[in-house]
Amino acid sequence: MDDKDLHGVLNTVAKQFGTPCYVYFQDTLNDRIKALKTALGDLFEVSYAVKSNPNRTLIRHLLDRVDTLDVSSSGELERAVEQGWSGDRLTFSGPAKRRFELVSAITNRCGEVVCESADELAELDQLAGEAGQVMTVLLRINPLTVPKQFGVRMAGKPSQFGIDEEQVDAVLDRFDVFSNLRLKGFHIYSGTNSLNAEGIAENIAIMGELFIRFSERHDLHPEKLIFGSGFGIPYHDNDVPLDLDDLAGRIRQAIQPVATHPRLKNAVRALEMGRYLIGPSGYFLTSVIRKKQSRGTDIALCDGGFNNHIAAFGMLGMVIRRNYPIFKVRGSIKPAEDTDMMLTGPLCTTIDILSQRITLPALSTGDVLGISSSGAYGLTASPEAFIGHPAAREILVTGMAEGKPVVTDISHSSSCG
Ligand SMILES: *Cc1c(COP(=O)(O)O)cnc(C)c1O
Repeated sequence: MDDKDLHGVLNTVAKQFGTPCYVYFQDTLNDRIKALKTALGDLFEVSYAVKSNPNRTLIRHLLDRVDTLDVSSSGELERAVEQGWSGDRLTFSGPAKRRFELVSAITNRCGEVVCESADELAELDQLAGEAGQVMTVLLRINPLTVPKQFGVRMAGKPSQFGIDEEQVDAVLDRFDVFSNLRLKGFHIYSGTNSLNAEGIAENIAIMGELFIRFSERHDLHPEKLIFGSGFGIPYHDNDVPLDLDDLAGRIRQAIQPVATHPRLKNAVRALEMGRYLIGPSGYFLTSVIRKKQSRGTDIALCDGGFNNHIAAFGMLGMVIRRNYPIFKVRGSIKPAEDTDMMLTGPLCTTIDILSQRITLPALSTGDVLGISSSGAYGLTASPEAFIGHPAAREILVTGMAEGKPVVTDISHSSSCG
């Protein structure tokens, strides 16, 4: 998709549906999945993490494009089922699954419950027994080590996620008491949003070592191994996107010990991820509502706030506040000169700042700004209800590849619950 086409469609969407809104490009999503499958599809299945973008239309679209979904609540699980996914293609992770959620997993015949503690195993075993069913589970391991090239790391410190590597032996030693559970394999997701191919591959190797270690010690032949892959996407200036060919080459090497191990080689392996697939497919659009000067600073006040897009406002796990990729959506009028300005949202709180300082072509009231890398952790990760502004709409663009873009409002199907 070239720049001119992108700006043209974003302008059309802003005019037709208003702002703030999210725009998802279906072809971009398809292309990313296809590229990943081409690079690593012979070694791994692909699992999409629903929490990264749970839009119903997208979930349905993914039915014949990825192998499985990772859901992290019974709400997500039931949404997937409602969109045509059969339970056996779902894995259910999450640190504090409630009783009704485990019951939902049983009722919907969820493929694998990813168990995150010994207590959860016990509760699921009891509930499965009451239902007269055997539930298939994966043990989520919380590793001691994660390569340092990860933006967000969950391992090596006290964590609500998974069973500590140091405790896995004890859990496996007494797994036989769970007569209504069948252990199918292991799961690890210990770090995310890495743009470092070496680090990602090293992490896959660490996961492989753990899977091998526990399979050998406990005489297991796992049938399923999930690698929470941690593939990152560029969010800020100087971020360089992963080179998929290079990354795939390193992962091929890192997975060798597992792929050739007599106990593990027949296991289905899956790369589990969200943002890498959907993030770059999405843009957030916001319009300039008013302009003002305050103590020498030009400020553009926009209609999109952190109520719509918490991540772009630097409030989703960011330590140092840095600008998201923001651009002026070009209209028909000739481009204005660059100026420095501050961008803010509509909320009555000092933290509603999209950019403290950014250089963009001078803005007028009504101009539309686009924010890239917004397909994941956008709408549903944001506190929509705060201050009572209308929710951002979600728009799907299809037909870009054929040069005949079609825009569809898919937002009626978006909010949770
Ligand atoms: C959130 C999550 C993912 C996806 O993480 P991304 O950074 O979006 O790729 C994968 N697996 C599990 C268990 C998760 O909770």
